[in-house]
Amino acid sequence: MNVLFMGPPGAGKGTQAEKIVEEFQIPHISTGDAFRLAMSQGTPLGVEAKSYVDKGLLVPDEITNGIVKERLAQPDCAKGFLLDGYPRTLAQAEALDEMLSSLGKTLNHVVNLKVDRNLLLARLTGRRICRSCGATYHVMFNAPKQEGVCDKCGGELYQRSDDTEEKVGTRLDEYLNKTAPLLDFYGNKGILYEVNGEQDIQAVTAEIHAHLRGQS
Ligand SMILES: [Zn+2]
Repeated sequence: MNVLFMGPPGAGKGTQAEKIVEEFQIPHISTGDAFRLAMSQGTPLGVEAKSYVDKGLLVPDEITNGIVKERLAQPDCAKGFLLDGYPRTLAQAEALDEMLSSLGKTLNHVVNLKVDRNLLLARLTGRRICRSCGATYHVMFNAPKQEGVCDKCGGELYQRSDDTEEKVGTRLDEYLNKTAPLLDFYGNKGILYEVNGEQDIQAVTAEIHAHLRGQS
């Protein structure tokens, strides 16, 4: 079973991906991991990628695609794989199709976790950090006993500047704009499956399982 996971930051994609790879015993492939592996093994593409990363430059698509292809050609992908965080653009999605067909594989399912933008904002802007001891809290999921005060040391809690609604909103919109064409692309192929990611974690997992097992 070859599956691609999609979903905006804060949708719980990582958590769900972990549960699926465990259930189906397939490797979890993120571009970050594939890059680290290629670089640590010193493959020609890994060496090339490292030269960009070391300079703080964006790795060109050609190299990224090549590294993903090398990863997908590994024996542990014979029974399937779960791709996470790639492709991010339509050009990469088209490259993925080509590399899969050259490997004699095809993508079976694209799972997209859907969560309302306002809920994502609430999830992503709720983090608070203690100025004194660095303990982290979340106003929705892990609230301190007294608002704005650290349970552990009584220090003052603050919000990182990256976590403000404005910054998070910009990041979210960038993601949503960039991936909308991808959802159309996979929707037109008839392999897109959209899950309501606002349910509790177990319910989301159960729905994805049922779909991947062909029961929905
Ligand atoms: Zn503290």
